Amino acid sequence: MKKSLFILFSASLFLTSCSGSNNAQIGEVVFENDQLRITQLEENAWVGETSDNTTIYIVEGDDRAALIDTGTSIDGLDEIVTGITDKPLDVILTHLHSDHAGNIRYFDEIYFHPADTVLGLRGYTGKVNYVAEGDVFDLGGTQLEVLHAPAHTPGEICLLDRAAGICYSGDAVGSNDVWLQLQPSAPIATYIATCDKILAEMDKGIDKIYCGHYVYIDGGVLHRDYVETMRELALSLEDGSGIPQAVPYDNAAYRNTAWKPLVLSKNGVNIVFYPEYLK
Ligand SMILES: [Zn+2]
Ligand SMILES: [Zn+2]
Repeated sequence: MKKSLFILFSASLFLTSCSGSNNAQIGEVVFENDQLRITQLEENAWVGETSDNTTIYIVEGDDRAALIDTGTSIDGLDEIVTGITDKPLDVILTHLHSDHAGNIRYFDEIYFHPADTVLGLRGYTGKVNYVAEGDVFDLGGTQLEVLHAPAHTPGEICLLDRAAGICYSGDAVGSNDVWLQLQPSAPIATYIATCDKILAEMDKGIDKIYCGHYVYIDGGVLHRDYVETMRELALSLEDGSGIPQAVPYDNAAYRNTAWKPLVLSKNGVNIVFYPEYLK
């Protein structure tokens, strides 16, 4: 009797150590400190939300794991991620804005699209790997495919987990707001093409979008109607019919500056832009 109890106990220890945080229920918080809270999002994926409203994702396969974006200020992010998954890690940046590419100093290698090189790497000394449309990160049983989705930045990418029907979108289509007012910016036609591309992926089985600022999304997931509304708004900016409906964008980032972008809205979906940058 004693012996079988010991075997059971050993087996459960083994399971716990092998499966890391996978014992957590979806929605359960698996890590929390003043800067970051990590929640189980899927059976093999976690969302990390920072105290300043940026978002990172961890996706685990059988052999490797991916860290999608690195947030702004997260002390010891490498060790925090290792506490979630002990698999070798690919660090993939959806784009190089500082709220997605902070903390890269903790990692020896990063992946991003070369069109974002213009945004700069702020002294990063590790190895830079460029990705291209169609590249696949094979994590073992889980694959993340690169979809180039420019406009918010020239090198913005989404990562598609086709088998799970998930798109990790960074800021490609925004998080209720898409910011197209920043420099370098793309013409609105580029954004329409990106919306079309994502909608085409939705026709082929993607049905959830996990975006780059999860906290702003009701329930954390964007669906097809959101992208369709973005496309409709973008078309009205391209043909000019939407511009009279746009209003000054009220956001803390702009309150005390000379920059006065406009925002065009429908059903809580917003495009922030400058008219002079649309063409
Ligand atoms: Zn961004
Ligand atoms: Zn962002």
